[in-house]
Amino acid sequence: MKVLVPVKRVIDYNVKVRVKTDGSGVDLTNVKMSMNPFDEIAVEEAIRLKEGGTASEVIVASIGVQQCQETIRTALAMGADRGIHVKSDDELQPLAVAKMLQAIVAQEGPSLVLLGKQAIDDDANQTGQMLAALLGWPQATFASKLAPADGALNVTREVDGGLQTVWVKLPAIVTVDLRLNEPRYASLPNIMKAKKKPIAASTPEDLGVSAAPRLKTLGVVEPPKRQGGVKVASVEELVDKLKNDARVI
Ligand code: AMP
Repeated sequence: MKVLVPVKRVIDYNVKVRVKTDGSGVDLTNVKMSMNPFDEIAVEEAIRLKEGGTASEVIVASIGVQQCQETIRTALAMGADRGIHVKSDDELQPLAVAKMLQAIVAQEGPSLVLLGKQAIDDDANQTGQMLAALLGWPQATFASKLAPADGALNVTREVDGGLQTVWVKLPAIVTVDLRLNEPRYASLPNIMKAKKKPIAASTPEDLGVSAAPRLKTLGVVEPPKRQGGVKVASVEELVDKLKNDARVI
């Protein structure tokens, strides 16, 4: 079975995010960009499914600017087989991405689409769910364990009260959570090999999808700065501050 893994290029999780002075968004000039961490986990899981004999091919797809090809190369160096880059310089929102992924699914015919549970830049947590709805496929979100089960998957999900295991028939959509696995580092020989792996290029127009945004960002502000702490001399003073300054008791 083919596995499709959509990977998003996002601001690196170690970067301290700066808001643009006009409040229109996050400043991305000269900022380190990387693969969305949840997508690395999805790529790792897809490669493990291939190593375990369940998957036959791992295809990664990224939608966005030219540099998304670097993100695809990273996944290829981890062990994915080939890439698809849909080039767009527009601001991309989950519904447009889901529609493009739907078109890629129609072309490629994967039995499983493994996505990150959310992209750490917009924190939307919507693309996988929207793709499942567009395709009419079952979905299992927030996966912390995957077990292949004869044309289906048993997926353990992290839910508020603990762990829930659901059975989904393939083809299916699975979005992955942090504890599913620890992604491997690409070895130097694999980085070299990845340079020769194919990346097919297309555009939203080729896929028959409009990338035009449906939502308008009204403003972006930084969270208020944390105030410095104070030391209190006694329990009485602490209780007094909690009651009268913080007003939490
Ligand atoms: P989101 O719904 O934006 O939080 O993203 C959830 C998941 O959808 C990500 O972890 C990716 O697997 C996938 N995804 C979102 N945007 C893109 C994109 N531009 N290109 C490829 N995959 C994407």
